[in-house]
Amino acid sequence: MLHISDIKKYRRCPRLYYLSKDKKSVYQPYLRHDEELTKLVVAYFGIKDYYLGKMGDDPSRVLNEINDHSWYVKARFEYKGLRIKVPFLHRNGDGFDIYFVVFAPYPKDEDIDFYRANIWVLVNNGISVKGIYIVHLNADYIRGDNLDLKELFVVHDHLYRQNKPARPLKERIGDDYDLSKIIEQIDKGDLSLFKPEKRRACKMRGVCEFYDECFKEELEDDSIEFLVSSQYKKQMQQLGINYMRDVEGEYLEGTRVQYAQIMASRNRGLFLDKLALKHWLDTFKDQKLAFIDFEWETYIIPPYRGLKAYEHVSFQYSLHVLKKDGSLTHREFIATGDCREDFIRSLLKDVPLDAKLIAYNAKGAEMIRIRELIRQFPQYTLPLNDLLERFIDMSVPFTEGMVYDIKMRGNFSVKSLLQVVSDMNYHNLAISNGMDAVYKWRLLDRNELEDEGKEVMDKLSEYCSLDSYSLYLVYKWLLDMVYPNIKENQYEN
Ligand code: SF4
Repeated sequence: MLHISDIKKYRRCPRLYYLSKDKKSVYQPYLRHDEELTKLVVAYFGIKDYYLGKMGDDPSRVLNEINDHSWYVKARFEYKGLRIKVPFLHRNGDGFDIYFVVFAPYPKDEDIDFYRANIWVLVNNGISVKGIYIVHLNADYIRGDNLDLKELFVVHDHLYRQNKPARPLKERIGDDYDLSKIIEQIDKGDLSLFKPEKRRACKMRGVCEFYDECFKEELEDDSIEFLVSSQYKKQMQQLGINYMRDVEGEYLEGTRVQYAQIMASRNRGLFLDKLALKHWLDTFKDQKLAFIDFEWETYIIPPYRGLKAYEHVSFQYSLHVLKKDGSLTHREFIATGDCREDFIRSLLKDVPLDAKLIAYNAKGAEMIRIRELIRQFPQYTLPLNDLLERFIDMSVPFTEGMVYDIKMRGNFSVKSLLQVVSDMNYHNLAISNGMDAVYKWRLLDRNELEDEGKEVMDKLSEYCSLDSYSLYLVYKWLLDMVYPNIKENQYEN
């Protein structure tokens, strides 16, 4: 039996499909929802009596009862071994309207094949599909004291392309969609037919979980594999260009980061645009600095007043303050529940009024979280705006090609930089990455931990502290390269 996700995986990479087929993994949702989502949609439609499909249902069950109800929820159908679960079917004359449910504000146009596959199975089960609709989250809805389902959901007949409505689904599904051939290929194939082959899918939306299994060879730090934003990488590898140092002009896109990488490879270590880095550091190096990192949870359905769908609750920060005399102090905040206002108050108390705030990828993370808090708690607009104006993004020297060390291996995260600038790393921590921190905090927040609560708090604190301390170490490393003598003066206690 196949699911639509299997076909999607097979199209992405047949080898990936066969490798993951028997692999049992524990599903840890990145996005949080504590509600039964289907029940919310049932309540939104005001459905009282309906057929409810269950996991493991034989597909004949719904067909035997197809004349008995006007609403069908999560009904299982199957055709040529492809099993689907249809979120909502509503009787319309001699056929049915289908309602797909997407728990996101803008259902993506690239998922059109998912809808086509569902319709293909339904039609081949003799179901006449009349209207095709998508129930999705209303991007503009802001929760009040209670969840207003009529405002939370919207129903449309189209998907979205770059957040703009595309043509109605009914016009686009077509009659010629047929999955018979690919299903046959999948059934007949096996892993031995698909050798590892580097393709876009290997590093699409992050590195494929089987990457190490497929490409066991130990890559050197300046392998061409680590050259970023390169459309000619595969072509170069075919020509025997295996190291960044050997890349010639015609294969370069000409970005500053590529240049930094190639020069670092030619230097067999580091590339430093000292003048550019000095210029950047000089804008703030003589001031008090506050290195900061936030952790947050992302909710599909807004759980608290003032939140929108997919907004966040920042539950933790770690702050290392470097004074001009070189002394370093640490402050932190961690709480559960609706801790947004406590978070703001604590942050405003802990961040010195005269300090610059340094975060990694500040514009894409911490600054967005603060803007969300300003919208939710306008009474703090002035002091929070003041914080925003004092932010400095520590990723700039790396993403703008001022500095590159081949030990980064094409990875521009602060975790990768920590291993370049020090002997420290996250591997020995009980919580070693952001998602793990969120999962552990989720257990705390749901009161699912009994005696381990304090221990988990300590581990979260250890993890987030290393994030802000890493920023300090990276800053010190950059400063030492431009001002090697400042160290003794500035960091003396
Ligand atoms: S690493 Fe690449 S070749 Fe291997 S399974 Fe993943 S996508 Fe396929």
